[in-house]
Amino acid sequence: MNQLQNYINGQLVAPVAGQYIDNYNPATGEVYSLIPDSDEQDVEQAVQAATAAFPAWAKTPAEKRGRIMMRIADLIDENLERLAEAESIDNGKPLKLAKTVDIPRASSNMRFYGTAIQHFASEAHYMEGTEAINYTVRHPHGVAGCISPWNLPLYLFTWKIAPALAAGNCVVAKPSEVTPMTAYLLSEICIAAGLPAGVLNIVHGYGHKVGAAMVAHPKVPVISFTGGTATGRAIAATAAPMFKKLSLELGGKNPNIVFADCDFDNALHTSIHSSFANQGQICLCGSRIFIERPLYEKFRDAFVEKVKALTVGDPLEESSKQGAVVSEQHMQKVLSYIELAKQEGGSILTGGHRVQVEGRCANGWFVAPTVIEGLPYNCRTNTEEIFGPVVTLTPFDTEEEVIQYANCTDYGLSATIWTQNLPRAHRVAHQVHSGIVWVNTWLLRDLRTPFGGMKNSGVGREGGFEALNFFTEPQNICVKL
Ligand code: NAD
Repeated sequence: MNQLQNYINGQLVAPVAGQYIDNYNPATGEVYSLIPDSDEQDVEQAVQAATAAFPAWAKTPAEKRGRIMMRIADLIDENLERLAEAESIDNGKPLKLAKTVDIPRASSNMRFYGTAIQHFASEAHYMEGTEAINYTVRHPHGVAGCISPWNLPLYLFTWKIAPALAAGNCVVAKPSEVTPMTAYLLSEICIAAGLPAGVLNIVHGYGHKVGAAMVAHPKVPVISFTGGTATGRAIAATAAPMFKKLSLELGGKNPNIVFADCDFDNALHTSIHSSFANQGQICLCGSRIFIERPLYEKFRDAFVEKVKALTVGDPLEESSKQGAVVSEQHMQKVLSYIELAKQEGGSILTGGHRVQVEGRCANGWFVAPTVIEGLPYNCRTNTEEIFGPVVTLTPFDTEEEVIQYANCTDYGLSATIWTQNLPRAHRVAHQVHSGIVWVNTWLLRDLRTPFGGMKNSGVGREGGFEALNFFTEPQNICVKL
């Protein structure tokens, strides 16, 4: 069976303790590879390698660092088919999604930051009268710890590593133990691209062992984490007393607000996508759809009809619009929320159950895309993150009311607004408590923009120069002339 290895100091190596974890294919329910069950000894080796590599990498001109990152991007593109298939098998997502979204975005992340660093400039402040000049130097921190989740594995892994490396840090990174495969393939690509040894180290294993050891390590002064809010809280509890720099990209419970004057076809079509893309396992999916009352029934009926037409099946088949959810445990969590919704008075309009797929995927973990109505806006189903193919529909009458509905959760990651009334679009957008708002679109991403959440959806922003600022320490130097 395929046994993955850690990538430490430029080498593919076995975990020190020699232990491995089963890695499942969620579409078949079968173990198909083994992942290093690393511990603090492996983290220690990775931190030592990164610390040793740091002085030379930090001194490498930005243009040269960028060129190596561009080579990594090119190799990701050259291996598109292989990486996409690996991502689909590891995660359960439709192959087509991995081919058109996950893997292309991974190479874009490398290219974006490989070039952005060459446009990253520092400020100078001249003091008139006093005759002094301040200039700001931005130093890389040293060793950055990057921890990523399972939903968009290579996409989010590279989204962290790329700005950290571009800014001159060395990195110890941990992909999710649930979806380690493309991070492992990336280590092979980094070796082929000539990334100097120790600049990037990838340690596989459980969060409570590898992740926790990275966060607690005194020589890792900066942590960039994407994952669940509860994990973010645990990381902050360890990192805060050590005064580490923290970027936390956490969960969401995003509102999708549909006004009666929207472009109906666009709102409908895009809402199918924003509800169920990647089986609803994107932190930006709109899981609460609020529909202005005059449009409610028309939208509901058309939406449910389209959801019924989404084919759930083998992720490797072109015809499958919905693949498997990521794990058996996650499937049980999603199904338990559907039960909760029923207890809270919700009516299931379609879905609401596990799907038995025929053939090689008979034991896979599939959930039917599920639409629920009739729930109070502030019940648990409508305020807790389910992170699966489950959405609720709720009618509203006024702008004030829907803003109250939208803001009633502890999360504040993203929101979508559908209306042809431009002043209203801006007015509502400004009042919704979320770090990202889309108007008449969804998941249209410009990598230069600040990305992140308000409230319990996170701390800090990724994207553009925000990430390069995060991965550098500003130092002001004041010179009296
Ligand atoms: P998770 O928090 O369980 O795990 C994320 C990563 O943290 C994994 O690599 C895991 O091994 C590691 N980890 C777990 N415990 C740890 C600990 N104590 N110390 C250090 N690391 C630890 O999240 P998940 O289930 O993999 O991902 C789903 C969650 O991620 C959802 O809540 C989703 O909304 C969120 N997410 C957020 C964004 C965003 O940009 N805001 C993007 C994608 C996913």
